[in-house]
Amino acid sequence: MNKRIDLHMHSLFSDGELLPSELARRAYVLNHSTIAITDHVDSSNISTIPNLIEAIEDINDNWDINVVPGVEITHTPVEVIAKLAKKARKLGAKIVVVHGETLSEPVIEGTNHEAVQCEDVDILAHPGLIRKEDVEIAKENNVALEISGRKGHSLSNGHVTKLGMEVGADLVINTDSHSPDDLLSFQESKLIGLGAGLTEKEVMKALVDNPKKIIKKRE
Ligand SMILES: [Zn+2]
Ligand SMILES: [Zn+2]
Repeated sequence: MNKRIDLHMHSLFSDGELLPSELARRAYVLNHSTIAITDHVDSSNISTIPNLIEAIEDINDNWDINVVPGVEITHTPVEVIAKLAKKARKLGAKIVVVHGETLSEPVIEGTNHEAVQCEDVDILAHPGLIRKEDVEIAKENNVALEISGRKGHSLSNGHVTKLGMEVGADLVINTDSHSPDDLLSFQESKLIGLGAGLTEKEVMKALVDNPKKIIKKRE
């Protein structure tokens, strides 16, 4: 049976409800093989990454789940995204997500365009009505575009799927979990992909192959 890989989740390090350990425990019980904890960061809190990594080491040394440290660069000036992505990597983050131009929040314009050009960025989360030229740049730079399981952010899943498939950019399906009820099983995640308009084959790529490719690249 396929195990779930979810590369966008929040803990108490930002606005999530759970400690990294509880998030990992909940994910393990829901048959996840790998999760990335990607708390919101700007310059004020990016230096907490080593604390997150300490908790993650306890988990990975003792439990049968792979937890990957990450960040989600969120609502920052566009001009500092590349600097923060580089800094996050230096501090040990393996998965760098950028909080894209979702339809449900006033994310500053230009965030999508900057994120897809940045070599340290792995995933552009919930990119809203992303422009085709940015999807093309994302493909070129191996930045995956996110299909979101989260209310609000998911409003543009159809648009992202359509352009992503047309251009051939990598897509990933993440939950952006903030609380225990947000976690989704493999089967539930599959339905989100199908609902967004992915084919059965593309859903499997977005749930298995593409996340694995990202993790492998940043090992
Ligand atoms: Zn949040
Ligand atoms: Zn998020």
